[in-house]
Amino acid sequence: MKAALYEGNQTFRIQSVDPVTPGPDEIRLNVAYVGICGTDTHIYHGAMDARVKPPQVIGHEMSGTVAELGSNVEGFAIGDPVVVRPLDNRAETAADRGHSHICRDLKFIGIDSPGAFQNSWTVPAFAVHKAPQGVDLQLAALTEPLAVACHDVRLGEVQSGELAVVIGGGPIGMLVAMVARAAGARVILSEVNQNRLSFARELGFEAVSPIETDLAELCRERSDGAGADIVFEVSGAKAAAASMTDVLAIRGRIVVVAIYPQPVELNLFQFFWKELKLCGARVYEPEDYEQALQLIAEKALPLDKMITRVEPLDQIQAAFENLDSSPNAMKILIDCQS
Ligand SMILES: [Zn+2]
Repeated sequence: MKAALYEGNQTFRIQSVDPVTPGPDEIRLNVAYVGICGTDTHIYHGAMDARVKPPQVIGHEMSGTVAELGSNVEGFAIGDPVVVRPLDNRAETAADRGHSHICRDLKFIGIDSPGAFQNSWTVPAFAVHKAPQGVDLQLAALTEPLAVACHDVRLGEVQSGELAVVIGGGPIGMLVAMVARAAGARVILSEVNQNRLSFARELGFEAVSPIETDLAELCRERSDGAGADIVFEVSGAKAAAASMTDVLAIRGRIVVVAIYPQPVELNLFQFFWKELKLCGARVYEPEDYEQALQLIAEKALPLDKMITRVEPLDQIQAAFENLDSSPNAMKILIDCQS
C-alpha cells in the first residue's frame, strides 16, 4: 500500500509501506478521503517539526471503512463506514477532572502519532465513530472540522432567534456559521477577504467586511438596538479581539475558537459594564462527533459547497502547494484510494 510521508521542508514523499496489523483494541481502516486542515499546512511549513518528527504520515480529517479488527474490538463490522476522532487521552489523570478531550497530556492522532494520508490506517478503537450506512464518504471527511463547529455552538449555548456574529470566514468560520444557523440563530459573518465574503453570501449568510461596514452598528440595526447575543471569534486577528466586545448586547457571550499564540488586548471595561461572558472552545467531545455525523447524514447543511477540490494521494504535494497559493479554497480532500 501507499503512504504520503511528510519529510520536512515542505515535502511529501509517496512510499510503499506495509499495512499495520491491528493489535488488541485497534482497528485498521481503509482510508477514503482526508481533508487538508490548517494544522496540516502549519506542519507542512515546518512550524511543528519538533512535535511531528518527520518523516511521518500526517492528516486527521478523514472518512473510511473498517478493514480489519484487532482482538477485543466489539461493535464494528468489516466494511462499516467510519470516521476517526483523533484524540488520544490515554494519559489522562484524575486531575483532568473528566475533561478527556482537553486533558493535559492529550496526544493528537495524526500529529503526535501517524495520520491518515495513506491507503490504510491503524488506530485505537476508542477513537473510531461509526458513520451512518450509505453516508457520502466525501462529506463524512468533513466530520472533524464540523465537530469543531458543533462544539463551539454547543459551548456557546446558542438559542433559537439569537443574533450570532462569526468573525473569520475560513473553513471553520463557515462551518460555525452553518451550525449556528441550524440551531436557529440569525448569523452575520465578518470577513475581510472579498472572495470569502461572496462565498458566504452564496451560502445565504449576511456577510460584511469590518473595514467597509461598522459591525457594531449593523448588529444594533439587526436587534432593535440591543447588539449581538454571541460572537464566535474564529479569525485570530488582534483587531477582532479588540473590537468584539463592541458588537455584543448586555450579557452577550464570546466563544474563542481561534488560536492566539500571543496575549492580545481586550476591553475588560466592556466585560464589566455589560456583564459579558468569555468562553474558550477547543476541539470536540464524542457527542459533537455524533451531532456532526447526524447533520451530515440528514444533509442539513450545504456541506458539499465546502469541498473545493478532490485530489489523488499521489498529488498530495501539489495539493499542499496549491492550497498555499489559493487563499479562497475551503476544503481540499485527498482521495486515498485513487
Ligand atoms: Zn483539523
